Amino acid sequence: MIYLDHAATTPPTREVLEAAWPYLTQVTGNPSSAHEVGRAAKAGLDAAREMIAGVLGCRPGEVVFTSGGTEADNLAVTGIVTATPRGRHVVTTAVEHPAVLETALALRGRGFRVDVVGVDATGTVDLDELASVVTDDTTLVSVMAANNEVGTLQPLAQVSAICRAHGVPLHSDAVQAAGHLALDVDALGVDALSVSGHKLGGLRGAGFLHVRGAVALDPVLHGGGQERGRRSGTVDVASAVATAVALQRADAARAVETPRLRALRDELVAGVLETVPAAVLTGHPTRRLPGHASFCFRGVGGETVLAELEQLGVVCSSGSACAADSDDASAVLLALGIDADLARTAVRFTLGASTTAADVAEVLRVLPAAVGAAASV
Ligand code: PLP
Repeated sequence: MIYLDHAATTPPTREVLEAAWPYLTQVTGNPSSAHEVGRAAKAGLDAAREMIAGVLGCRPGEVVFTSGGTEADNLAVTGIVTATPRGRHVVTTAVEHPAVLETALALRGRGFRVDVVGVDATGTVDLDELASVVTDDTTLVSVMAANNEVGTLQPLAQVSAICRAHGVPLHSDAVQAAGHLALDVDALGVDALSVSGHKLGGLRGAGFLHVRGAVALDPVLHGGGQERGRRSGTVDVASAVATAVALQRADAARAVETPRLRALRDELVAGVLETVPAAVLTGHPTRRLPGHASFCFRGVGGETVLAELEQLGVVCSSGSACAADSDDASAVLLALGIDADLARTAVRFTLGASTTAADVAEVLRVLPAAVGAAASV
């Protein structure tokens, strides 16, 4: 089976599992306990926090462990706006993951004004529209670093400049970008950043939110006051260690892995466009995640292509794992101006550490048959 759905989740490496193992078997205390067993667990948690801070160029205390990307996004959006007295105005984009978009839209019911800025045909945020809606009274801007369905990278430096001009905090969902892009939060110009462990080779159900010390944050989960009162609940130390090690290793491998993935991805994109006349590349042609190739296949059901490919030994997805069982056209593709019929034909191939040139060659060999079979259904 050739697995080309690394954006849905990517398997943990052996090194990550070995780093987490002692915290599942030997160092099993509660990191909040004052005794020696608890202190040993806390030492592991502190080391994980420092490792993450090293990659982000932030202070360890600015890292809040969460149950994953979804919780980090919810905590960022809700936690920052409820803690920040000014404005009651949130700005985000039409291509955000639902963990950001739905969280922002839910704030309308709590008296917030929410502006959803559009994107162009490549999925890039409309900077003029963004600049026109952000004011000195805006509470928070949230713009993702890279899109999960079409792979488009957002121009965070320009987004940050707009936010800085108005003194507005910027949150970015970097769940897909982490491991592929440099995450130095000062260089990115962000005030809060969400990361998920399982998209990087860590464990599912773990992640973190970086939030700058100067930015106020209300908790979303109330309870025992862990994570300095910002996120209650006993932290899963093994998963936090796994996230930290996965992030550090992915970041260290980037210089080699990014060009490798990009070359494989370019070969896949060129081959698909050449051999499948119905194929349309979605997202930005160049400003996109290195391992991300997303298409629509005009006149052919995307779900049928996926089923045919699976029969032929290739697994990929229609765009977003969360929406895999929905017949609705993707809101992200509609936001790019793709019509609903074409949007329903989406197929996303996402490459990862295990992907080889032979895998790409095999996909290119079987895809025309899969699309042909789907066209005749
Ligand atoms: N944000 C983006 C861009 C994603 O792609 C995902 C997962 O697909 C999430 C957030 C949610 O992350 P998690 O699965 O860790 O909750």
